[in-house]
Amino acid sequence: MSSSVRYPMCPNDGFPLIDVDGAIVCSVERADALIGGQQVTNATNANGYLYLNFANGASMPLTCPCCGGRLHLRGLSHEQLGQMLAGRNVEGFRHGEWVGGDEAGQRHPIFAIQFSGQEDLSARTIQVGLDSVHCIQEDSSYRENGSELH
Ligand SMILES: [Zn+2]
Ligand SMILES: [Zn+2]
Repeated sequence: MSSSVRYPMCPNDGFPLIDVDGAIVCSVERADALIGGQQVTNATNANGYLYLNFANGASMPLTCPCCGGRLHLRGLSHEQLGQMLAGRNVEGFRHGEWVGGDEAGQRHPIFAIQFSGQEDLSARTIQVGLDSVHCIQEDSSYRENGSELH
């Protein structure tokens, strides 16, 4: 996802709206319906992405807010992130913007997921791109059919 088009916002909560199979839906309402309160069971690599798997069978790929590729993690491997998040529950969602460091200052929406735990909130929050919300799957077995991120 490389466009700098600003996303329209949901009038109810201010979260970005996303297009899922032709339907305009609110990112946080979709995320809450699919993974709200859910416990992370583990993390798996598939299609070049790290997926968080949840107790209800849902899964979510971790994408980067700036480029839509796989999430870049500073000083942490994907496996370590998976281990850190396993057993935690999704506690809440926030949204923000990542602003590019180049002169264009491109803005990209960020979707943040807060997990349960004792640490400072920032230490148990991960920021992903809206593609992650778009690509949440209700049952991770669908992924085995070779479907790709879009
Ligand atoms: Zn909404
Ligand atoms: Zn990136």
